[in-house]
Amino acid sequence: MTQKSFPIAAEFLAAANTPAEQYATEYQQSIESPESNAAFWAKRAELIDWIKKPTKIRDVNYDLDDFRIKWFEDGELNISTNCLDRHVKKNPYKPAIIWEGDHPSLHKIISFKELHEAVCRLGNSMRKLGVKKGDRVTLYMPMIPEAMVAMLACARIGAVHSVVFGGFSAESLGNRLIDSRSKIVITADEGIRGNKRTPLKANVDRALDMDGTDSVTNVIVVHRTGNSVPMSGRRDVWYHSLVDGESVHCEPEVMNAEDPLFLLYTSGSTGKPKGVVHTTGGYITYALSSFRDVFDVKDDDVYWCTADVGWITGHTYSTYAPLANGTTTVMFEGVPEYPTWARVGHIIDKHNITILYTAPTAIRAMMKEGDAFVRESDRSSLRLLGSVGEPINPEAWDWYYNVVGDGHCPVVDTWWQTETGGILMAPIPGAVALKPGAAMNPLYGIKPEIIDRDGTVLEGAAEGNLAINSSWPGQMRTIYNDHERFLQTYFSEYPGFYFTGDGAQRDEDGHYWITGRVDDVLNVSGHRLGTAEIESAVVAHPATAEAAIVGMPHEIRGTGICAFIILKSGENETESLRAELNRHVRAEIGPIANLDTIHIVNALPKTRSGKIMRRILRNLAAGQYVGLGDLSTLADSSVINKLVEVVKAER
Ligand code: ATP
Ligand code: MG
Repeated sequence: MTQKSFPIAAEFLAAANTPAEQYATEYQQSIESPESNAAFWAKRAELIDWIKKPTKIRDVNYDLDDFRIKWFEDGELNISTNCLDRHVKKNPYKPAIIWEGDHPSLHKIISFKELHEAVCRLGNSMRKLGVKKGDRVTLYMPMIPEAMVAMLACARIGAVHSVVFGGFSAESLGNRLIDSRSKIVITADEGIRGNKRTPLKANVDRALDMDGTDSVTNVIVVHRTGNSVPMSGRRDVWYHSLVDGESVHCEPEVMNAEDPLFLLYTSGSTGKPKGVVHTTGGYITYALSSFRDVFDVKDDDVYWCTADVGWITGHTYSTYAPLANGTTTVMFEGVPEYPTWARVGHIIDKHNITILYTAPTAIRAMMKEGDAFVRESDRSSLRLLGSVGEPINPEAWDWYYNVVGDGHCPVVDTWWQTETGGILMAPIPGAVALKPGAAMNPLYGIKPEIIDRDGTVLEGAAEGNLAINSSWPGQMRTIYNDHERFLQTYFSEYPGFYFTGDGAQRDEDGHYWITGRVDDVLNVSGHRLGTAEIESAVVAHPATAEAAIVGMPHEIRGTGICAFIILKSGENETESLRAELNRHVRAEIGPIANLDTIHIVNALPKTRSGKIMRRILRNLAAGQYVGLGDLSTLADSSVINKLVEVVKAER
């Protein structure tokens, strides 16, 4: 692991919300004892407007016999009033959402007052359709303001939303409807991204033909592209005619802190997606509090998180955290390559964006196309960059820092999961220097542990499985319909700990590096090698754009290393390049990291959220081409056939 660290510029430090000493002291207090932990969170809960202030702060027990996770359990609140009403009182005309359409000529600015009105109208309409507290509402929507309106309207009336990514098929949608037993579906006629249309309403119709979807009584359809779509009888209603004439006042439902806010299915990188359930009081406290810490947010920031609302990042850090904090949030309907790869930079300039939060997969895709596109824009408004979703390779980190951020914006690499509700590890800017590729430090109240396979907690510099030895308010409470799977998946492996499923390394300075998923760690001749480390070494070679490493059966070493590599535009695949790539990786990591097989490919199998599905590649590397497991969350299934061809030809 590279130990080079980047100090944060003096100018940034001078204005930083969290000086180093403050983080050190407060962090220590936040983890010292259950009492001091409760005191810490009681203080943070003051950032929230409660209808009834909680007096019981935490009640947590990870023992399976008497398991419980409760935060602020006697508190009452409504999240939509925290995101809207309190800002409308102070600053009604401040932009809440800046929406940038798919086509560069389209944008909309929605103030807190306007957003509040839209949420109230839809909340009232849904109540009239019979939606009550606790009912599930599924959102299958493009990246349009109505998606955030719908989430907040659910929160207002106490309905539990389940957002299904608009890129999923009718069948994936249907399965999630069956699991959640939703009463209402909110969708649009069509979605549009990169000038390509997705037939959302038609997919809903097909999903509702599936057995077990009879819980759905109404489909609310937003008019987005205007292409004609079939509307069926009393079931389907147009959004605009539904909300038209509704009152702009809507009584917020009184929610207990532990009432569910939403359920959300994980990306499915490791198997069948899990319906993660988050509750109200703890979730919003953790979201707001972590947002302030990690993004160093100020009142005049214009913050852009590129995540789709279909992912947890789109819930916590595009919608709930910024709005609860009164921060302007930017929502982009399109894709980074449309009309050209210069789009991201142009959006930053157009809306004077100060904070950009995106994923390594997007950074690597832009990097692959060269610097010239990014340099078309000025980007001088930017002051902070964030990354989430996968380990960011030092190579991509450098490019993000030097090219996108012009060398003056700290990069916060944020590690977390759908299950954690919010960020658990990141370098709080101002509190710590930056190491490219490291998630660095735990946030307040988070006690990470590195544990070996036998369950021994390791001290000092160490590598192993990452578990958390504490609870935090934003933690998931159960898997919808499957509490047993919840306990099994997260609390059985290491009794008394939350097991993350990820591996990590702690360096001599006590800083954390995520090495990838535990299932992906390779055991080569008895040495444990993280996929992230080898992939970073491959990507550090100038000819490569992206890489995925998996293990494969090897007669002598037990596990051999198989590399799937995408070259940069303009690079050619030759035998000498393969040999050179192998030499390069062995030189970077050591001779143990010998690339036994190299497949040069055009695309990697990724989830819809942009994560590499290594389990598929593992099967291919072992010569297994059928029975590849749950492929429903795959972004592009045609990738598989092409990969099979390459692998077969080269075996
Ligand atoms: P499933 O649990 O269904 O297999 P998933 O784990 O991909 O899907 P998410 O909750 O979207 O679903 O992703 C969380 C995972 O993403 C983490 O467990 C980790 O492996 C990875 N991850 C997220 N952020 C980072 C980061 N900054 N550095 C390294 N890995 C990260
Ligand atoms: Mg996961």
